[in-house]
Amino acid sequence: MTKAIRGSCLCGEIRFEIDGEVGPAGQCHCSKCRKVSGTDGNAVFYAPAAAFRWLAGEDLIHRFVVPDGGGWASHFCRQCGSPVPLNGNDGTLFFVPAGLLDDDPGFRGYAAHIFVGSKAPWVCIADSAPKYEAGFGSVRVDRG
Ligand SMILES: [Zn+2]
Ligand SMILES: [Zn+2]
Repeated sequence: MTKAIRGSCLCGEIRFEIDGEVGPAGQCHCSKCRKVSGTDGNAVFYAPAAAFRWLAGEDLIHRFVVPDGGGWASHFCRQCGSPVPLNGNDGTLFFVPAGLLDDDPGFRGYAAHIFVGSKAPWVCIADSAPKYEAGFGSVRVDRG
């Protein structure tokens, strides 16, 4: 069995681990992900719920649901403000912000860029990963 990959928030109170292979990550450029990260988007990967375990600090997780956001929510550490993994897709997956990882997940670069159609005007996408206008499977775009 492969070693579990560990991650944590900025203050270290919230910690988790994931069994087996993870990633690769996608980069979401939508306006909500930009606000959540405070940067050009959100580097995130999926982990099966069965492979994911909270190690500490689950009681510090605060949930913010965007008004009129179709249920879009951010989960973050109440103490330090880091975004933290969010259980979604009817509970079968965790959406894990890749920047929380303390261990090397093995993957390199991004699998795709999504919501490029709403990316910030100052962002230049420099890698060659596929770019999608909106979500995965939407129209491919060439511009970066
Ligand atoms: Zn924290
Ligand atoms: Zn997004």
